[in-house]
Amino acid sequence: TEVTFIMVKPDGVQRNLTGEIIRRFEAKGYYLRGLKLKQVERSLAEEHYIDLKSKPFYPGLVDYILSAPVVAMVFSGKNVVTMGRKLIGATNPLASEPGTIRGDLCIDVGRNVIHGSDSVESAQREIGLWFPEGLV
Ligand code: ATP
Ligand code: MG
Repeated sequence: TEVTFIMVKPDGVQRNLTGEIIRRFEAKGYYLRGLKLKQVERSLAEEHYIDLKSKPFYPGLVDYILSAPVVAMVFSGKNVVTMGRKLIGATNPLASEPGTIRGDLCIDVGRNVIHGSDSVESAQREIGLWFPEGLV
């Protein structure tokens, strides 16, 4: 069965949205397979977003992820990577539809509450980075 990496970003944790985000994935039918509250080290944040290294917003993005603890999670279930991205909504909250997590819960692309893996390959890479100890 497919797995994906989901992270509640610092703004989402501080705004007490972790429960709401877990609820949406569980209500859809997905299974929580891993979860931890983590103050991220710079090297992990940089590695997580390595594909965006050349973007002008990359330094600010890394600082945002370091600004406070995040909640790192793994969910499993049928087509969870693609469906997870649908539940999350578009990157920029101006474009994300109401009914999606970003569409309902945020207004700023630089504070967009949640990360979700964008492919099965990304999910494997990210789960390896964030859960090197493995899953139960
Ligand atoms: P994520 O990878 O966090 O799930 P995403 O896949 O929807 O988001 P990416 O293109 O991978 O979007 O960008 C990663 C993150 O970088 C975005 O979620 C957002 O927090 C930040 N970001 C993207 N574009 C911008 C921008 N133009 N200005 C500021 N931050 C941005
Ligand atoms: Mg992405």
